[in-house]
Amino acid sequence: MKTKMNTLRECIKEAERKGVAIGHFNISNLEGFHGVCNAAKKLNVPVIIGLSEGEEEFIGREEAVALVYTIRERDNFPIFLNADHHKSFESVKACIDAGFDSVIIDRAKLSFDENIKITKECVDYARMITKETGKDILVEAELGYIGEGSNIKDVIPEGAGILTTLKDAKNFVEMAGVDLFAPSVGSIHGLIKSGKPHINAGLVAEIRKVTGIPLVLHGGSGLRDVDFTNAIKAGISIIHISTEIRLAYDEALKKSLLDNPQETTPYKILEPAVEAIEKVVYDRLKLFNLLF
Ligand SMILES: [Zn+2]
Repeated sequence: MKTKMNTLRECIKEAERKGVAIGHFNISNLEGFHGVCNAAKKLNVPVIIGLSEGEEEFIGREEAVALVYTIRERDNFPIFLNADHHKSFESVKACIDAGFDSVIIDRAKLSFDENIKITKECVDYARMITKETGKDILVEAELGYIGEGSNIKDVIPEGAGILTTLKDAKNFVEMAGVDLFAPSVGSIHGLIKSGKPHINAGLVAEIRKVTGIPLVLHGGSGLRDVDFTNAIKAGISIIHISTEIRLAYDEALKKSLLDNPQETTPYKILEPAVEAIEKVVYDRLKLFNLLF
């Protein structure tokens, strides 16, 4: 008989208890999905699949739900689906309706009050659905702009990287009523050529204390291992990785095509790309779960 599957909320609690973090990895296609699943299954750790609005449009909203549910139900494996950086109430609502486990309403670029307003709207909707269906849905919001896009940047984008203050963090979480909080604590979305800023672990610990809820680290690609472990120790429960996966996929796919110009079978061309994603995810999950 199957044991009862932990919800994402329970998995996060468990991660906090163990002093580890859950990895969140963005995908655009089935190769990405298999790469992430294979790595998480090898290590037997919970994992979150993330879809930005663009990724979701490409892979298909309901299609992605079906993929994740298949692994969760058929294999009894703790894999979850998150709507990553969704910008409107409508897109958040569509993901909740489709069966996502968590959503991120990202209006960190708006004013504090506008950010609160739209976040609150999403939280209210999630709570209503939970009440109706019993399904637990987590809502995350960001406060403090840390740039956008999982790409390579020459320098830190203008206006990004201003650290979230304790006062703002506390007020925001209290007023918006979110389940998860992504503050600006030193990381930037994408890979920064001029050097990645460090994570302010002291600030992470203080924000965790004043907000009283689990924290999420975005812009993890390219950070040093010690920054991750310090961030986890300080109170980060979920870590997002995207750019590193994209680069691994891109490199492996180009090499595969160049090395085998006569090959026409997609699964043969794409296999190295799946393996490349799996390797990145495996190494990151090992680190986040402190499996040395
Ligand atoms: Zn992010």
